[in-house]
Amino acid sequence: MCGIFGYIGDKNASQVLVQGLLRLEYRGYDSSGIVVRNGSLQTFKEIGKISDLTSILPKMEGSIGISHTRWATHGGVTKENAHPHTSEDGKVAIVHNGILQNSNKLRKRLTRKGIKLSSETDSEVFCHFISIELQKGKTPMEALASVLRIVRGTWGLCVLFKDYDMILCARNGSPLIIGRSSDEMFISSDPHAIREHTSEMFALDDGQIARLDREGFEIMLPEGTPVESNPLELDEEWGVSDLGDYPHFMLKEIHEQSQSLKHCITGRLRHSSGSANLGGLEITPQALSTIPHVRLIGCGTALHAAQIGQLLIEKWARIPAVSHVASEFNMNDPVINSKAMHFAISQSGETADTLSAVKEIQRKGADVHGVINVVGSTIARQCGKGVYIHSGPEQSVASTKAFTNMVGALSLFALKLGRGRSLNLSEGKRITKGLKELPKKIETYLADQGPIAEAVDAIIGAKNVLFLGRGVSSPVASEGALKLMEIAYIPCLAYPAGEMKHGPIALIEEGSPVVVIAPNDGVQDRTLNAIHECKARGARIILIHEEGDSIAEIGDINISVPKTHPMLSPLITVIPTQLIAYHTALKLGNDVDRPRNLAKSVTVE
Ligand code: GLU
Repeated sequence: MCGIFGYIGDKNASQVLVQGLLRLEYRGYDSSGIVVRNGSLQTFKEIGKISDLTSILPKMEGSIGISHTRWATHGGVTKENAHPHTSEDGKVAIVHNGILQNSNKLRKRLTRKGIKLSSETDSEVFCHFISIELQKGKTPMEALASVLRIVRGTWGLCVLFKDYDMILCARNGSPLIIGRSSDEMFISSDPHAIREHTSEMFALDDGQIARLDREGFEIMLPEGTPVESNPLELDEEWGVSDLGDYPHFMLKEIHEQSQSLKHCITGRLRHSSGSANLGGLEITPQALSTIPHVRLIGCGTALHAAQIGQLLIEKWARIPAVSHVASEFNMNDPVINSKAMHFAISQSGETADTLSAVKEIQRKGADVHGVINVVGSTIARQCGKGVYIHSGPEQSVASTKAFTNMVGALSLFALKLGRGRSLNLSEGKRITKGLKELPKKIETYLADQGPIAEAVDAIIGAKNVLFLGRGVSSPVASEGALKLMEIAYIPCLAYPAGEMKHGPIALIEEGSPVVVIAPNDGVQDRTLNAIHECKARGARIILIHEEGDSIAEIGDINISVPKTHPMLSPLITVIPTQLIAYHTALKLGNDVDRPRNLAKSVTVE
């Protein structure tokens, strides 16, 4: 989703900004733009890809500028609505991530003052109000501070001035990171866009503003009180992720799952004690034994990982656990028990809905553990404890390797919690062995993927696709359906297999594709009933099963995966569903890595 990159130094700003925008590209966006201070504020914007923007960019002097990738929230995807937005006098340009809740009122106020708005966005009001304050004789900092007092909502905001050699920034609920190198300064919503220039980074906190100039930067509160800068440690250098021999990031990331899972669990498994070591857990054995319940919060793919985590925690730790849709969590005025454990799960660590749930839980007196991929991200910092899933950079909008690592990390948590309570040593050892063997098994499956092409043929042209699973396979069904919907744009439904006869069966007609995830995990028998009931009505069953299993030939298309510990099967059964989604989207000619309307990191609520 939306991204910001700004630069002040001695290099050609437009070139550095374009490089920065390319680093933000994976997050998903619909338009982009840059503004460079070169006598006047020279602004260029375009809808579509960054390459569409670069195709209209002239060679430009100027060594200070700001740029943006927009994911439209207010106003259509048009060139006028793309950022930057500039004041009527051409003296102030802004880029904004987030949503202003009182923008209608503020737009009306501007119109009453005779100012002609040139976009439909909420963001545009910033530049006009700042310009009005400057005209009253205020300094840029004072002007920004005044405007921040009248806006309501969320912002990662950067402001460029025609008459001042500086960039001003403000943060409220949308990340901004400052990068400092000798004689040059960077600002971005994503630390990984800065990392190639410098490792010296500082995170702005909510409510803070910052001034960047050629000498350095200062962070303060709007009333001018200076604040200590908050150094950001990125312990992993993600570098530029290139495609290598793969045609798309999604396929590359599917294939990386063996390595990335290994990365997540290596060093954390303790086979001799049948447990896991998680430094970030920060919980004493005494506290562990009195946890009343566990809540896991996430959105989309992270929610599906949370649903699996819930089952693992209940099964192994015997603690009641429940997963929650993050965007609903605060709406329901949740009762928070400060002794309970809370997990917030997010690949980017910037998911606004999840962040807002984290804050609500903390406000009500409980701690939250993060299960996050991006090191130093807002949720990771807000939680202050938890575990990084170590997937490495995930560029494809449709998540794959982050899902397996979220489940991997939650398995480690569940195991650790379980061994601190009633899970016995031999079961603990079975689980550590199962986890340890999984990367190899994933590799084995990926080397021989089975009849994915046949499954794709059965799905192409279908009105809808039903995904069924039971137990831990039920969230896998949901994840498979989400993936296919996200990139192939085919309506998909996912149901626990036993629910199928209570409604979704009405959709089944001759040839309807039904994807069934049915590992041999002790709950398979009644999944079998659902398969027969669908078949009896003409459905084409795409069955994902474990190799050598007795149900191996029951589907019309049978995809076999290596057998693993029954509770760990999602880590491998999900992979054929990812491949089905990928190849279906590809065959339909869709942009697999950048599906329409979606963003990688959803930074608005
Ligand atoms: N709300 C702003 C808009 O629609 C910013 C969106 C974004 O964060 O990219 O232009």
